[in-house]
Amino acid sequence: MQTHILIALLAGIAVAPAGAATSLDSEISARAQATAPQVIAWRRQIHADPELSNEEEHTAALVAGELRNLGMEVQTGIAHHGVVGLLRGGKPGGVVALRADMDALPVEEATGLPFASHKTVQLGSHVVHVAHACGHDAHTAMLLGAAAVLTQMRQRIPGSVKFIFQPAEEDHPANDGGARLMIARGALANPAPTAIFGLHVRPGTPGTIYYTSGATMAGSDDISIVLTGKQTHGAMPWAGIDTITLSAQIIEALNGISSRQLDPSAGPNVITIATLRGSERSNIIPETVSLGGVLRTLNTAARDSALVRIRRTVTDLADSWGAKAGLSPDDEPYPVTFNDPTLTARMLPALARAAGGESRLVSSPPVMASEDFAFYQQKIPGVYFFLGISPDGVSMDETPPNHSPYFTVNEAALAVGVKAHVTVALNYLEQEARRR
Ligand SMILES: [Zn+2]
Ligand SMILES: [Zn+2]
Repeated sequence: MQTHILIALLAGIAVAPAGAATSLDSEISARAQATAPQVIAWRRQIHADPELSNEEEHTAALVAGELRNLGMEVQTGIAHHGVVGLLRGGKPGGVVALRADMDALPVEEATGLPFASHKTVQLGSHVVHVAHACGHDAHTAMLLGAAAVLTQMRQRIPGSVKFIFQPAEEDHPANDGGARLMIARGALANPAPTAIFGLHVRPGTPGTIYYTSGATMAGSDDISIVLTGKQTHGAMPWAGIDTITLSAQIIEALNGISSRQLDPSAGPNVITIATLRGSERSNIIPETVSLGGVLRTLNTAARDSALVRIRRTVTDLADSWGAKAGLSPDDEPYPVTFNDPTLTARMLPALARAAGGESRLVSSPPVMASEDFAFYQQKIPGVYFFLGISPDGVSMDETPPNHSPYFTVNEAALAVGVKAHVTVALNYLEQEARRR
C-alpha cells in the first residue's frame, strides 16, 4: 500500500488521487464487464421493441421484472409507466438516485442492424415508425446493469440507491408525463435522495465521458405566434393584409436577435422558427398564419431578455402592417440542465476512474438541446454527463447524431456507463457517510 493511501485511509478522506484506480475500481470494472453481455442483450431487446413516450409498457415490465429478480423493492406505474427500484445497502447512510429514460421516438430506423426496429404505431391521426434513435434503450440497459452490480456489492453500500426508470423524456412536459410528473408522483420521496446522477449517450470517442460543470444543457421555451391579417386573393395582396410576407419579415428579424441584440459573452442562445402554417391554396393569402419554434438559453437572464425582444419584434412588425399578433408564453418551459458545480467537482475523480483514467474524462461545452433531467436538479443537486458511443473508427463529426435514423450505439461503451453509474453512486454515499 502506498503511503499516501494509508495516510488518507487513516484520515478518513478520499483514498485515491484523482483518476487513479483503486482495488474497488478494479472490482467494479470486473463486475461491469461480467454484466456487459446481459446489458447488451437487454439493450437489443428494448431496441427491437421501442415504445413512444407514455407508452413504455413492455420496457417498464422488463425493468420491473429484472429489479424484482434482484430482490429490490419495486414501484411501478409511476407517472404512467415509470418504475422505481430501491436497493438498501448493508450499512447505514444516505440516499442517492440514478436515473435512466426509457422512451423512443417517431423515427424510421435506417441502421440496418439485425435487431433494428420495424415497428409502426398510431400517433394521433397517422401511422408512424418508432425507433430508439436517442439511445434510451442503452440508458435503460446500463442502469439495469448498474442495479445488478450494486446488488452484488450490497453489503458494502453505506445507504440506499434509488433507481429511477423514467418514461416520456422526449415528450413535452405539458403532455402530462416525464420527469416533472415522476417528481409530482413521489419519485424523489420515501426515501428522499440528496443527489441524482444520469447520463446520455452521444457521438464521441467510445467509452469517453464528457461533462460540463454548471449549465450543461439548455433551457427551452416553445415559441407560439398567431398573426391575424385580412384574407385576400393572391393576385390582389393590396386588398388585404399579407400575413405571409409579414411572417417572412418576422422570421428574418427573429433570426437577427441572437446575432445583433444579445451579448454573446453572456452565453450562447438559439431562436428557431420551425413551423409555418398558412393557406392551403397558392392563390389565397390567409387571414391567419401560425408560427412555431423554440428558444434555447443557458441562463435565466438571457432567457428573459430574449423573450422580451421576441415579443417586441413580433408585435411591432405586425403593428407596422396593420396586423395583430398573439404570442402564447410557454407554460411548461424546460429549465436549464444545471450541474451543481460543487457536486460536479466532488464526483470528477470517480468519473475519471470509471472512464479508465483522466484522459478519458473530457470537459466539453454545453449542449443546446434540452433534457427533462433538469426538473430533478431543481429539487436536489445532480450531475448529468455524456458517454461517447461513436462506432469504431468513425469520428465524432461523422457520427450520425441523436434522433438521426442512422443513430447507433457502440455497445463496447456500455460497460463504461455501468461503471460510471456504480462508481458515482458508491462514491457519493461513501463521501456522505464520512461527513456524518
Ligand atoms: Zn432525444
Ligand atoms: Zn435522449
